[in-house]
Amino acid sequence: MPNNDEQREIWFLTGSQALYGEEVLSQVASQSQSVVDSLNISNNLPIKIVWKSVLTTPEAIKKICLDASSDPSCIGVITWMHTFSPAKMWIAGLSALQVPILHFHTQINAELPWESLDMDFMNLNQAAHGDREHGHIQARLNLPRKIIAGHVSDSLVISRITHWMRAVIGWHTAQNLKLARFGDNMRYVAVTDGDKTSAQITLGISIEAYGVNELCAAVEAVSEQEIDTVVAEYEKVFDVAPELCKGGARHNSLRYQASIEIALENFLKRGGFSAFTTNFEDLGNLKQLPGLAVQRLMAKGYGFGGEGDWKTSALLRIIKSMTTGSIGGSSFMEDYTYHFGPGEPKVLGAHMLEVCPSITTQKPRCEIHALGIGGKEDPVRLVFNATPSKGRVVGLMDLGDRFRLVSNDIEIVKPDKELKNLPVASAVWKPMPSLSTSAESWIYAGGSHHTVLSTSLDIETLNDFANILNIEHLHISETTNTQDFQREIRWNGVYHKLSNSSRA
Ligand code: MN
Repeated sequence: MPNNDEQREIWFLTGSQALYGEEVLSQVASQSQSVVDSLNISNNLPIKIVWKSVLTTPEAIKKICLDASSDPSCIGVITWMHTFSPAKMWIAGLSALQVPILHFHTQINAELPWESLDMDFMNLNQAAHGDREHGHIQARLNLPRKIIAGHVSDSLVISRITHWMRAVIGWHTAQNLKLARFGDNMRYVAVTDGDKTSAQITLGISIEAYGVNELCAAVEAVSEQEIDTVVAEYEKVFDVAPELCKGGARHNSLRYQASIEIALENFLKRGGFSAFTTNFEDLGNLKQLPGLAVQRLMAKGYGFGGEGDWKTSALLRIIKSMTTGSIGGSSFMEDYTYHFGPGEPKVLGAHMLEVCPSITTQKPRCEIHALGIGGKEDPVRLVFNATPSKGRVVGLMDLGDRFRLVSNDIEIVKPDKELKNLPVASAVWKPMPSLSTSAESWIYAGGSHHTVLSTSLDIETLNDFANILNIEHLHISETTNTQDFQREIRWNGVYHKLSNSSRA
């Protein structure tokens, strides 16, 4: 996967001014370096923070902001005013800044040295007012910023910085995301459609169409040897049905699905694509709907959306990039059918085939069954249940004048009874605060039936991601009630029409 986050950096900018004199400024420099060191050695950060020299002039501030915006290794900045840095000096720089910004409101000391406190200490430790001056100009410039107040010794502060960094990674992924769509979206479907030019302006994602027969030709060109290698891997990591194993009656069906996986992955790699869509209405000469092949590619980090759903596909890739290295997983998902009772109401989520095995700790079964849609040969797929965990589902919609994210906190649970006859992977969950409030709110919001289900995405990361992109995020949680939620939708509608965030 094209994901070089280990080479990415967040730059740490410390503001001050010349009138403090050399001695104080050198203390400011060494103390702000020690703040950066404390952050970097916390071992939690997904990318490293790079300390930059203390800034004391408008020229230096503008230069570092331009450098941060153009240096490919820098994907975000953190600012801190250890001393007072008159904020008009920051106008030109912050106005030119093209990467996300976190205003870290902190101090070198957690505790006041009550008894030794003198004017030298007061002269050096001024963030309480220096950062307020700085925050004023960020507010005045209406920067989509993150503010975190607290000391580096507080693990909550570190984890919140981490959540923001993951949002920055998501933003950076979106800015560089290329998605290949084979065919268009499913005929007559509203929510999977949308304005791809606006998506590129707002999110950065580039959505590119290919005729499915380009993929068919690539499938035909896969060699038997390549297929042997991948099939051997299937037999090792999955519980493959005997009829699909080497020597089994339907082994060739498994081999064919392997050839789709190989051809798809090569196609995506060659084109620099990290997400894709398929559409069962437009499979050209493909003999099977890509099932196992798609599940394998999602597990490798690719975004995917069924029925040509490029928005959910892009969102899945973005969420996978934001959660790299976290516990849990993320998958394409669809609210499929309900259990209203007896017992606690639940959603059963699944898709025709394409659920990512990163959301289970089970060894998936690899099986072949008929599929009553698409008119093709029986497709090979992985079958499993999602592992119980807290998580969330997230949908991305095009409302015509803007994009909207809707998310719902969920708890994945064990199915009430074994799903003995279900021939696809599935997840069963309790939506917060209840099935009725969740579903009513989601539907009032115009939320999609396709989502990304993630057991590794933190809500703060998702909020920060929406803020960086200045897109709406409606969050359905334990505290949601339908009436307030409807009011929030109406108010947001007015806000987005009055602010500059409506469609370009
Ligand atoms: Mn679907």
